[in-house]
Parts: sequence; C-alpha cells; structure tokens
Amino acid sequence: MANIIDGKLISTEIKDEVKAKADELKAKGIEPCLAVVLVGEDPASQVYVRNKKRACEYCGIKSLSYELKEDTTEEELLALIDKLNADKDCNGILVQLPLPKHIDENKILLRILPEKDVDGFHPYNVGLLSIGNADLKACTPAGCIELIKRSGVDITGKRCVVVGRSNIVGKPVGMLLLSENGTVTTCHSRTKDIAEVCRQAEILVAAVGIPKFIKGDMVSEGVTVIDVGINRLENGKLCGDVDFEEVSEKAAYITPVPGGVGPMTIAMLMNNCVIACKKQNNI
Ligand code: NDP
Repeated sequence: MANIIDGKLISTEIKDEVKAKADELKAKGIEPCLAVVLVGEDPASQVYVRNKKRACEYCGIKSLSYELKEDTTEEELLALIDKLNADKDCNGILVQLPLPKHIDENKILLRILPEKDVDGFHPYNVGLLSIGNADLKACTPAGCIELIKRSGVDITGKRCVVVGRSNIVGKPVGMLLLSENGTVTTCHSRTKDIAEVCRQAEILVAAVGIPKFIKGDMVSEGVTVIDVGINRLENGKLCGDVDFEEVSEKAAYITPVPGGVGPMTIAMLMNNCVIACKKQNNI
C-alpha cells in the first residue's frame, strides 16, 4: 500500500513559511498585498475567491477585493488592471477565471504586469519557466513539484511521465520536472499506447480531466503518482484522474483527491505574492 501524500499538511507547511516571510517584510515596513478581481457571480469562482482571501488572512498578506458586475466591459476591467499595475502598494493581481464570454481573457492576462502576475500565466513568465528561470511559476504545477520533493522523492534522473499537455497544467509541469533534472515524456489524446508509456514512469503526473483514467495496469510498482484531476461525479463526490484504489496498491507515493494537489494551488499563490513583493522591493 502506498504512502499517501498529504496535500493539506504540506500546503499548511508552505503557508506557515509564507507567513514567516510576510512577517519579516512587515518588520521592514513592507506589507505584501494581493488584489483579487472577480467578475460576475459564478458560484464556484466565488468560493475560490473567498478561499484565496482567507489564505491571505492566514499568511498575513493584505488582500484587496474587487467584485465586479457580470456586465462589466472589457475596457472597464482593463482600466482596473492599469490602476492596480500602477499601484506601488499592490504586489500581485489575480483575475479569477473564467471571465464572462464578452471579455477576452488573453487580453486581460496580457495586461497584467509580468512582475505582478502571481498566477504565472503571462507569456513572459511562461517563457521564463521554459528557460528554467522563472520567479513566478504557475501555482498548480509548482504545487505538484513541492508535493514530490517534500515527500522525499528525488526527481533527478527519474523517468517522469505527464499525462496532459494543457498550458495551465501539463506543459508547465513537464517544464518544471525537466528543470529538476527529470527525464520527461508528455502524453496527450493522440499518444499511442499510452498505458505502455505510463508503465515506464517512476514519477507520473495525471492532468487529463477524465475520472479514474489511470488504472492499476498502467503503472509500475514503486511509482510516485501526482493526481491533478478534479472531477465531479454524478453522486456529487470529487474524483481524480487516477483510479486511487487500484493504483495505490502499486505506487510508493500517491496523492488523494480531494486533499492532494488541490490545497497546494492556493499555498503556491501565497508564496508567489511574497516572491513578487520581495522582488518589487529589491529584497
Ligand atoms: P485540459 O482539458 O485543458 O487538458 C487535458 C489534457 O488531457 C489535454 O492535453 C488532452 O490532450 C489530454 N487528454 C484528454 N483525453 C485524453 C486521453 N484519452 N488520453 C490522453 N490524454 C488525454 O485540462 P487541464 O489541464 O486544465 O486540467 C486537467 C485536470 O486537472 C482537470 O480535471 C482539472 O479540473 C484539474 N485541475 C486541477 C487544478 C488543481 O488546483 N488541483 C488546477 C487546474 C486543473 P489534447 O491536448 O490532445 O487534447
């Protein structure tokens, strides 16, 4: 039976470290600050935003909250981004996605100054990530790496397989694993004989969006499995992209869903806020 990687515990550890760094900054008269922007009334987004504000409170990071009406125009949102970009006291800007259909998400994300892009989605930061030089790394992928490392698993030289190649998870996870000296293979919907590729993995990251996609016969004994998937089943329960019952029989380490990668995203966001604040203050 595998060791279960406790994402809740590790994310709390990280938030405590962030809090200590935020306290150090405050002792120097600098208060890290995150602006959280929500457009519309999507219930899931409201929950995410609430959780982010709560995490700020826990870590001692000031949060500025902007809750805009659904019919906010693109120009109005861009004007708010410009204002926050110019605000020296605001270190990070987070625009909760998805945005209403009449707003071009890419245009909004491109407008955020890269040094305030705490989500790590700006192409400038994605570029830095790909050359192994990013300060602000995409939060969920960075969280996956922390889970692996803090479980005591050395990535160097390991055969790493990432299932999924999205811009927000699969690709950046692959790039980060490569930066950690893993030997990385990325699979996607056109990959041939995916089970055989997955069986080669010593570290397997699943970011597919299909419940229980990774079965027991797709992994080898002793593998470390990071399940990024969050799928809502018909019975209302959450389920990952990995068949936990089957795969945990063979894995050495595995993340559960919920309680694995999920809590890490916000912890890494908090970490990015402090990194952004330090950088902007030349610390
Ligand atoms: P996307 O839908 O953007 O990407 C899914 C990827 O999986 C694509 O690259 C796709 O390939 C690949 N794929 C789909 N079907 C297959 C298949 N049959 N065989 C092999 N590959 C396949 O999803 P995301 O990357 O945004 O998210 C993935 C999962 O992670 C979701 O469950 C999402 O909810 C969760 N998630 C969790 C987060 C967290 O905080 N824990 C944050 C973000 C996402 P192709 O490119 O060829 O289409």
